[in-house]
Amino acid sequence: MNTSDKIFIAGAAGMVGSAIVRNLAAKGFSNLIGSYHSRRLDELDALPIKMVQIDLKNQDAVSRFFQTEKPAYVFLAAARVGGIHANNTYPAQFIHDNLVIQNNIIHSAYENNVERLLFLGSSCIYPKEAPQPMKEEYLLTGPLEATNEPYALAKIAGIKMCESYNRQYGTRYVAVMPTNLYGTNDNFDLENSHVLPALIRKFHEAKVSGQKEVVVWGTGSPRREFLHVDDMADASVYVMSLEDEVVEKHLTNYPSPCFVNVGTGTDLTIKELAMIVKEAVGFDGDLVFDTTKPDGTLRKLLNVDRLSRLGWTAEISIKQGIHATYTWYREQSIASQ
Ligand code: GDP
Repeated sequence: MNTSDKIFIAGAAGMVGSAIVRNLAAKGFSNLIGSYHSRRLDELDALPIKMVQIDLKNQDAVSRFFQTEKPAYVFLAAARVGGIHANNTYPAQFIHDNLVIQNNIIHSAYENNVERLLFLGSSCIYPKEAPQPMKEEYLLTGPLEATNEPYALAKIAGIKMCESYNRQYGTRYVAVMPTNLYGTNDNFDLENSHVLPALIRKFHEAKVSGQKEVVVWGTGSPRREFLHVDDMADASVYVMSLEDEVVEKHLTNYPSPCFVNVGTGTDLTIKELAMIVKEAVGFDGDLVFDTTKPDGTLRKLLNVDRLSRLGWTAEISIKQGIHATYTWYREQSIASQ
């Protein structure tokens, strides 16, 4: 990938897409084009990217976009995403929108001779009862978690699309499966967000309003792995930049998986996480565990050996990442007052 190549970031205004744009811009890539759906992200105005509004569910619009713009590289970071509540309430939209978006983009990429495409997946593709840490080989070895099965099936279909196009057409389409992501542009909604941003907000609000306690859901004993979105973006750009021979040997060599896990390789308990957030925020009250709330899966950890062998490892420690995210969160809350 050369710095003058045209690179399309689908979903550039999202948490992962915008982190990929920042990473590419910092590495000197200057011919960037991004798509957004409803929300335009002002911070991108300062970066060398042209932003276009496209409904990626519209096949004609996507096809016209590729014919006109002829990108050489495509990061497919556009998706309908959400927590357990959204997945349960809108299962039809989760399976339909994701399948349609990825079908449109992957097929248009093929018709327009895109050099390389990187599909962004999720660790929920793995079976509910998969052994931990989860290896790429565990895909399709057992039933999925019921609450996000429609979303997970769309992501699995995306992987299989990449793999099938590689097999039939000799393309080099690859995919990355991140663990739980957090960081800049995260969702801090208390009901619908994931644990890390929810805790940042809860501790911050408790500190500001002088509360004595913060309620943490569940027992605090489940274990989770967290990856800062800037590390995720760096891994995505790294995989996209691998030499053709490396990709052909390790990623498009069917039947070996055309995707790699992206994580830190280490996990911690929710209680340990809460203690780190408490310290980062500077809250000096107590933690209270609300055991009427569900713990969910006991442990969720990715095996990241494959990506380590390809030469990439995460750099942002959980403490650094939480500090940076808290700083960003405070700046946002001040700006929106
Ligand atoms: P999961 O990784 O799919 O289970 O999703 P979450 O990030 O929502 O939850 C991870 C764990 O954190 C679960 O055991 C939750 O019970 C626990 N948790 C503790 N406090 C909170 C909170 O305020 N919000 C959320 N979402 N989870 C919390």
